[in-house]
Amino acid sequence: MAQDFSFYNSLTRKIDKLETNEPGKVSIYTCGPTVYHYAHIGNIRTYIMQDALVKSLEYAGYEVKRVMNITDVGHLSSDADTGEDKMLAGAKREHKSVMEIAKFYTDAFFKDFQAVGNKMPDVIEPATNCIPEFIHMVEVLLEKGFAYQAGGNIYFDTSKLDDYYVFSSALEKEQLEVGVRDDVEEDTNKKNKTDFVLWFTKSKFEDQALKWDSPWGVGYPGWHIECSCISMKHLGERLDIHCGGVDNMFPHHTNEIAQSESYLGHKWCGYWFHSNHLNDRAGKMSKSKGAVLTVSLLKEKGYDPLVYRFFCLQSHYRKPLEFSFEVLDSTVAVYNKLVKRVAEFKEDGVVDEKVKEEFEAKFRETLSNDLNTSMAITILYDALKADTNDATKLAIVKSFDKVLSLDLIGHAAALSEEAEVDPELLKYIEEQIAKRTEAKKAKDFATADAIREELLSKGVEIKDTREGVKWQLI
Ligand code: AMP
Ligand code: ZN
Repeated sequence: MAQDFSFYNSLTRKIDKLETNEPGKVSIYTCGPTVYHYAHIGNIRTYIMQDALVKSLEYAGYEVKRVMNITDVGHLSSDADTGEDKMLAGAKREHKSVMEIAKFYTDAFFKDFQAVGNKMPDVIEPATNCIPEFIHMVEVLLEKGFAYQAGGNIYFDTSKLDDYYVFSSALEKEQLEVGVRDDVEEDTNKKNKTDFVLWFTKSKFEDQALKWDSPWGVGYPGWHIECSCISMKHLGERLDIHCGGVDNMFPHHTNEIAQSESYLGHKWCGYWFHSNHLNDRAGKMSKSKGAVLTVSLLKEKGYDPLVYRFFCLQSHYRKPLEFSFEVLDSTVAVYNKLVKRVAEFKEDGVVDEKVKEEFEAKFRETLSNDLNTSMAITILYDALKADTNDATKLAIVKSFDKVLSLDLIGHAAALSEEAEVDPELLKYIEEQIAKRTEAKKAKDFATADAIREELLSKGVEIKDTREGVKWQLI
């Protein structure tokens, strides 16, 4: 049976105990990436914390179904339907078609997404797959009087709702209203400033690449409609948890709720999980700022992507987190120490199930209390120090890794293997690595590459990392 699980619900602005629509099962919807550029490590922070949520729910005994969209149409540079189409801008920048851009950056996204130990969502749906569903929702909203046609576009009429700003306190509402008034370029078709586009036909993007027939003419969907439709297509009319970054709360999630509940005629989703941003010293990381730091780039610089995961899990998802290479470097050292510790344990001996279960209960409870991942890591350290045998400690590490996904056992095995290598071979490997380092210093890359190949032919793979050259037997 699933255990109690609580977390901060942005809708009620308090820690709520999860009550799912179906006992023991959780449906989760995640706003996926807009695939016009690489996902930066900030975006990936959001997905690491959502992965921790999914795995913690599973650890608590829930069966989770998770759906993610891929935004490949309709997202303009301002979330409030103004500016440039992000996909179109990406295609122009790279002289490619929108679909080529979408494919390239979707693949790049999932490569980094998985490299940090995240489990793939059960369903991944690109927005361009669901045009008939979008059109249907817009038709129903028009029929029910929640939408209107103006200047060729279809808009959602926010004045039809008693409470549009569902996530905001009275003061925040005032600030948002001022923001909406001041920021948004004038769209004279809108009856109210907060109205948003459901379907574009008349747009300023004459060269909009992706267009579809609709009852209102050839056009394309607004951004917000995709998440409502894709969620309902795969998870039904009542969703348990909706996830996203804090920037998604307004206007994106606010608009998703407006249109979904008007369409359905009842409550749609009871729990909203929002994680905070990763900042660098210059402020919030943002794809639109151009040069982005990605997980792949971290890897090229010699950082293990799981060290980045470790860095994220050490702080609470609701707090902003500042990234710097100095902090990442110290995380590398802490991670390596942890791996070394695990590598010292011997597998022989009988697991003390009672001790293991006690630690598992503490770990579960911590995660079930607003996803306290940093405390969960402290419990891991406690287990490593506990007065019990190695087999029990290893079993606990294995069990915790179902959520932490730090692959401590795998990394520890690689370390132990290194220690067990025949001393002759070890000497040879070290000499070759030293020669290669010299060759690289002298910019003799041909020799450096030849040494790498030579080692590879003997079953030794080498990798350049922040802490020098590492090798493993393959
Ligand atoms: P996007 O691809 O821009 O739609 O963003 C994908 C996800 O990353 C969304 O859930 C955003 O809320 C989230 N996100 C955007 N910027 C950051 C950041 N600096 N730190 C953490 N998450 C972010
Ligand atoms: Zn969304």
